Amino acid sequence: MADTKYIFVTGGVSSSLGKGIIAASLAKLLQARGYRVTIQKLDPYINVDPGTLNPYEHGECYVTDDGAETDLDLGHYERFLNVKTSQANNVTTGRIYQSVIEKERRGEFLGKTVQVVPHITNEIKERIQILGNSGDYDIVLTEIGGTVGDIESLPYIEAVRQLKWELGDDNALVIHLTLIPFLSAAGELKTKPTQHSVKTLMESGIKADILVCRTEHDLNVDLREKLALFCNVRKEAVIQSIDASTIYDVPNLMLEEGLDTITLQKLKLPDDTEPVLTRWNEFLRRHKNPKAEVRIGLIGKYVELQDSYKSILEAFIHAGAENEVRVKVEPIHSEFISQKVIDTKVSKMDALLVAPGFGERGIEGKIRAVQYAREHKIPFLGICLGMQMAVIEYARNVVKLDKANSTEMQADTEIPVIDLMEEQKDITHKGGTMRLGSWDCELAPDSIVSRVYGTNQISERHRHRYEFNNAYKQQLEEAGMRITGTNPKTNLAEIIELPDHPWFVGVQYHPEYKSTVASPHPLFVAFVAAAVKYSQSGSSDNMAPQ
Ligand code: GLN
Repeated sequence: MADTKYIFVTGGVSSSLGKGIIAASLAKLLQARGYRVTIQKLDPYINVDPGTLNPYEHGECYVTDDGAETDLDLGHYERFLNVKTSQANNVTTGRIYQSVIEKERRGEFLGKTVQVVPHITNEIKERIQILGNSGDYDIVLTEIGGTVGDIESLPYIEAVRQLKWELGDDNALVIHLTLIPFLSAAGELKTKPTQHSVKTLMESGIKADILVCRTEHDLNVDLREKLALFCNVRKEAVIQSIDASTIYDVPNLMLEEGLDTITLQKLKLPDDTEPVLTRWNEFLRRHKNPKAEVRIGLIGKYVELQDSYKSILEAFIHAGAENEVRVKVEPIHSEFISQKVIDTKVSKMDALLVAPGFGERGIEGKIRAVQYAREHKIPFLGICLGMQMAVIEYARNVVKLDKANSTEMQADTEIPVIDLMEEQKDITHKGGTMRLGSWDCELAPDSIVSRVYGTNQISERHRHRYEFNNAYKQQLEEAGMRITGTNPKTNLAEIIELPDHPWFVGVQYHPEYKSTVASPHPLFVAFVAAAVKYSQSGSSDNMAPQ
């Protein structure tokens, strides 16, 4: 057990400082030195997982291969490390309590009073060590959600204190991320909030080993020395994290600051290797030197909140770099797609993506955008709900089934071209009951997708309850729509294409979850390439199908 080293990342002063990015960046540097690394997020809220949370509350819900609905930070971990995460990588207070209460009901505590310490803290410690004990990793980074001093975080901080004490200082390390605000009136960076937050951590019995300081201005030597002295860390352990133009710069910034070196020294691990970041830096070079720009309309109902479509936005960054173009994503609110919005915005795009989503709000706007893409031969990608809307649009406007709808939007629709999956019909619990995680899909030969993937067997991640209704398959196919991807076991339609359109693809799954820096998703890469072609020709009529 002591072979695995543990790094805990806590946050102070303010939320949204980017603990996930710091954790992912450090993990990247350690991985680039040859260590096997994984990252875990502990979330102090009482929801069992974020699956039931509104995107306005929590941003995107990220889905892992094994079907866990998780925090969007896990997306950053996968995108940075190119290593799969799983259910074990995201733990919430809800899940901890659920498990402890189930154990209590089974009589596992042998009549003892069940308490926060030791029962809840033991459960937290177990969850942290599951990854370490797997033998798959040399180093496990655990990010503690929330801000030090929050009531909700206390059991986690206590669990970290105990673990650090049990494992010893050579095997466990605490990195505390704080904010150094700049007071423009005084023209000064202020260390006091950081001092207070380190003190709060101390009150819980934890001494921070490394301070990572978010700042808008460079920290000079005096300030670093002051922070070191007052916060009880070595001077080299005061790491500046200055605002970056892209999150993908953060690993290199942390490398310059020596975060990986000081981490390895403290964990008594060899630090004489150089991180190999060739692929990463090649991606950065392409990302920062685009040869052209394409504008892609992102049609969704949560577009005002960037975090709602995090993985889609990041997948465009990866695919843009791969194509050496800048992808300018233009958010278009699906609830307000009027003729004016079509004329002034939708029609100006080089490609249109209709986003995933739930419920009725904004769907007519999505359908209108699909229609525009189809009729004007603009490259189109529909994801999950976006694919379902493409089916409804085709049924209504091409097959002339005017009343076609999804039973999600209209339970008693006469023409349910999208319907609740059979296995969903008796489900009443909302949490964790969708069709989740990786499912196989077989691709039709001579389709866009089989060319794009370069294989006929794929596996992609899902999160849905409704599906293409095969009762309408023949009618839709006779009218020209092609089902080019199906689940081999259930025959569920996974992908639709329109052969008389240069690039029109709808997918029931979420390709965005699997796009990483080292492995940009082929569907996004091809979609961006189609947008490039469209922008160059002025219309996709001249585009040779790829
Ligand atoms: N609401 C749709 C369903 O449940 C689509 C879900 C999604 O876009 N993730 O099937």
